[in-house]
Amino acid sequence: MITLGLVGASHVAMSRMLPAFAAVGIRVLGLYDNEPGRFAYWTDSGVEGQTTSLDELLSSRIDAVYISTRNDQHLAEAVAAAEAGKHILVEKPMALSVADARTMIDAADRNGVVLAVNHHLPGSPLHVTARRLVADGRIGRLYSARVNHAVLLPKHLRGWRLADVPGGGVVFDITVHDASVLNPLFGAAPTHVTALGVSQAPWNEARTLDSVMTVLQYPATEGGVPGLAQTHDSFAVPYPGTSLEIHGESGAVIIGDAMTQDTPGTVELHTSDGVQAIDVDCSVDLYHINVRSFGAAIQGEGRPTATGADGLRALQVAAAVEESLKTGRATLIDNVR
Ligand code: NDP
Repeated sequence: MITLGLVGASHVAMSRMLPAFAAVGIRVLGLYDNEPGRFAYWTDSGVEGQTTSLDELLSSRIDAVYISTRNDQHLAEAVAAAEAGKHILVEKPMALSVADARTMIDAADRNGVVLAVNHHLPGSPLHVTARRLVADGRIGRLYSARVNHAVLLPKHLRGWRLADVPGGGVVFDITVHDASVLNPLFGAAPTHVTALGVSQAPWNEARTLDSVMTVLQYPATEGGVPGLAQTHDSFAVPYPGTSLEIHGESGAVIIGDAMTQDTPGTVELHTSDGVQAIDVDCSVDLYHINVRSFGAAIQGEGRPTATGADGLRALQVAAAVEESLKTGRATLIDNVR
């Protein structure tokens, strides 16, 4: 049985990941956080071994860690875990810069441990199905995609996400998810991105950018043409839910509820034959899918849903969007460090 320590007494660890670890038989043996006040949430969690010393957690007999601290803490914790020989599942965004993400990947490689990033969307049966329809030529050459990821940030999450802190903001929180889906769809990272952002939510007292629209250009894959994607990411929009449209030379794939955690979602294929509803089994929780693939990768079977390299490419997009928001110009992705 795989044993695991939690790095970060976080909301997502408790609400999503504890059930996922239990479902796939990974045993949680310890919990680290540098803010002891957070352990109050965990009194009835059944997780023992609470500590404010990362060294103590890492020197215990665990095989792996799940890191879900604030985004600016992921780098140091992941490197320490790798040096201690622990496999790593780290939350998205894996780091705050491409250079830091590379440092994490190098540390994992050097120490022979698995590094996975907890992007829950690319492994969703909705997106796997959409990628298969595209790969099978059902919409002809892939042209473009539009991601609707404008949602209402729940009240209990209106903390660091809105603050002007490293790793806060809608881009590192949501755009990075879009990239985790778009990059595998287009088979590469984009070459350029350009973005505009504003502050809209009346409750966003910090007036940080809570709504961002981005345009991305993807390189042509073999036999294809360059692609374009558009994303709308917001913390301020209550309706109508998320979606992803994928457009090709001879058809389109439309995913309803494409970017959400809980709703089952729908996939439609639009072609000259009409509209076909595609049957997709969405019965398995997306975090269970991720945790299962992480566990299998630790045992030498297959690869995680999102590897360190996948996480890096998604982060690179988010960092390029941030750069474009600052400069007001298109960002060449290769210039983002
Ligand atoms: P936090 O742990 O900071 O949680 C946000 C707030 O939730 C806290 O500030 C706290 O409010 C409140 N809260 C409610 N229940 C708990 C609990 N059991 N433990 C701790 N806090 C609780 O951040 P997140 O969990 O949202 O994010 C942590 C990391 O995970 C980040 O890297 C984030 O990007 C990532 N993440 C990834 C997701 C994914 O789908 N892959 C989904 C969500 C987050 P108070 O301050 O009032 O105590």
